[in-house]
Amino acid sequence: MKNFFRLSMFTLAVSLVACSPVEDPSPVDTESMLSQNVQNDMASSSAIDVGKDYHSYANPDEVLVTHLNLDLTADFISKKLIGSVQVTVKRQQENADEVILDTRDLVIFSVTSQGNDVPFELKAADQNLGAALHIKMPKGSDTFTIYYETSPTASGAQWLTPAQTAGKKYPFLFTQAQAIHARSFIPLQDSPQVRVTYTATIRTPKELLAVMSASNDPGTERDGVYEFNMPQPIPSYLIALAIGDLHFKAMGERTGVYAEPALLESAAAEFEDTESMLVATENKYGPYGWDRYDLLILPPSFPFGGMENPRLSFITPTVIAGDKSLVSLIAHELAHSWSGNTVTNATWRDLWLNEGFTTYLTYRIMEMVYGEDRYNMEAVLGYQDLQAAINSLTPADQILAIDLRGRNPDDVFSNIPYEKGALFLREIEQKIGRDNFDKFLLSYFEHFSFKSITTDEFLAYLDVTLLSQYADKLDKKRINEWIFEPGIPEGAPVPESDAFVNVDKAREQWLAGKTSANMTQTQDWTVHQWLYFLNNMPELLNEKQLAELDAAFSLTVSKNNEIAHSWLMIAVKNQYKPAYERLYEYLTTIGRNKLVKPLYRELSKTPDGKAFAKKAFEQAKPGYHPLTISANEGYVE
Ligand SMILES: [Zn+2]
Repeated sequence: MKNFFRLSMFTLAVSLVACSPVEDPSPVDTESMLSQNVQNDMASSSAIDVGKDYHSYANPDEVLVTHLNLDLTADFISKKLIGSVQVTVKRQQENADEVILDTRDLVIFSVTSQGNDVPFELKAADQNLGAALHIKMPKGSDTFTIYYETSPTASGAQWLTPAQTAGKKYPFLFTQAQAIHARSFIPLQDSPQVRVTYTATIRTPKELLAVMSASNDPGTERDGVYEFNMPQPIPSYLIALAIGDLHFKAMGERTGVYAEPALLESAAAEFEDTESMLVATENKYGPYGWDRYDLLILPPSFPFGGMENPRLSFITPTVIAGDKSLVSLIAHELAHSWSGNTVTNATWRDLWLNEGFTTYLTYRIMEMVYGEDRYNMEAVLGYQDLQAAINSLTPADQILAIDLRGRNPDDVFSNIPYEKGALFLREIEQKIGRDNFDKFLLSYFEHFSFKSITTDEFLAYLDVTLLSQYADKLDKKRINEWIFEPGIPEGAPVPESDAFVNVDKAREQWLAGKTSANMTQTQDWTVHQWLYFLNNMPELLNEKQLAELDAAFSLTVSKNNEIAHSWLMIAVKNQYKPAYERLYEYLTTIGRNKLVKPLYRELSKTPDGKAFAKKAFEQAKPGYHPLTISANEGYVE
């Protein structure tokens, strides 16, 4: 997943609280911080059972779910998925007589096997984990069927009204299962170490198209009944469904885009290099193992940048910038086809194995397709994000192999697993040489293909491969420091970009009053240079400086959502009112949490700002995803 973790430099000072759902700190009152600390202390007093998934009730060691066959009707009136899932299991222990599944806010009507009712019990719900569903194993059968429906407020599904879509004519549904939200729309063993194949029949209003993280036939007839097959075993967090007025446009031989008609052409043009990215990645890291690679463009309420659902990545429309400046997101989701979807973290403590490797691959793919300058600029911006995370998170949350016991696994999505993980791999690359490291990655992906592994399994593999092969260059103590200690180890690589040297110079000269903004040579600047220029401005600027910047560079009306974000952060910090109309429009039309949350947080610091934020939030709320609502409502109370 690619979240909203690009904290700009000036958010450093304000985010000195424990990290909470999804990427960066949300408002935490002192009391809950204290209880969190107590929990952390308690957790650290006992050793972690490595490989145990603390975020699932399931019992795959006794009875393992291997296949799901879904038959679901999407009811847009009641906002429910209604139907059944046929579950196939494999007994791991001969005398096991019960299978335990995860659920959240599901209504379970019945469980049957071969026409007979099967006894089941739905236990009391836990706030983080949902409710365990205990099912008696039917005698002489390895399959049973659960009849159920979802809640309209399911944490993993968002039902949008026509008004909340680009076309304004048809409703839209999409799911988001990572980290543990699959259980809110399917009863299943919701753990990344359980891999299942699945088939599905999805029934929708006739005029809509359903797509899934499975085989999608671009030429399928639009008749309201859609069949899917995912023949490769995947972890539950990669099961995904979307339904809407979706149309398809091919971009390459194996790549294409699904979107509402209003976005289809611009999305296909923006992401036309997807096929080149796919080929470049295959050349380096082995064949793409998932048949087609398509993109699904979601409505602007999608709370994340992207989600690497296999064969069909879900993508925010906020990266359609018109100049391909934000397409590293596509490289990121594509890279997950190797790191994450093929080699998967076994528990959420091991998320850095997914995201660190993927972030490292993202930089490399961007370099292969767009060149070294782009690689360097994106690496510097990523490094600044990492520094911001280090400055804002508790030491315990700066550790790659994070202890998440007693916490919501959404807490792990900070820049630590992403950028610190990638920097760790960059250091190994620099120590042993790029070609050697690429060979290692190729064999790593092959060795653990379609497996879910822990940090400790990775380290054991590293021991018998790179550490023995390059004993003179790599050091186990150093590697343990990267993975088990907070912060960035001393002497770690520091990315640099020549393209930013001139930007620093321009900013300094302007701040010192030596040049005016409109005399600054910015004609050739890329979006990355603009972001670097704005993100490294001092906290406070005066009204005259702000007006000068805005007049010279048309920042308030920037069509680039990232540049607009950086500028609006500056505007809020300095209460630059000419930008507030745009700010209001921005907050009420975009639901991607990375872009709106820092603005709400900044606004909430003054009474005026808070009143403004409240008004925008109330208007935007019906269109926000549940995750975006919960991440921001504390700022407008
Ligand atoms: Zn990711």
